[in-house]
Amino acid sequence: MPSCPECENELDIEVDEVEEGDVVSCEECGTEYEIVGVEPLELARVDEDFDEEDDAYEEDEEE
Ligand SMILES: [Zn+2]
Repeated sequence: MPSCPECENELDIEVDEVEEGDVVSCEECGTEYEIVGVEPLELARVDEDFDEEDDAYEEDEEE
């Protein structure tokens, strides 16, 4: 079973039951990971900071 890179808690992922694009979250620290590969299992951290940057940019264009 894979473990969370952030807190090393074991992630409750059944490799047979997930597919690319699924998002899982760590029960321990709440960090979300997107499944980017299943063989072998690869996780990419979902980073919410991107949204904040988008908002700031849009505010700039408002009149
Ligand atoms: Zn964690």
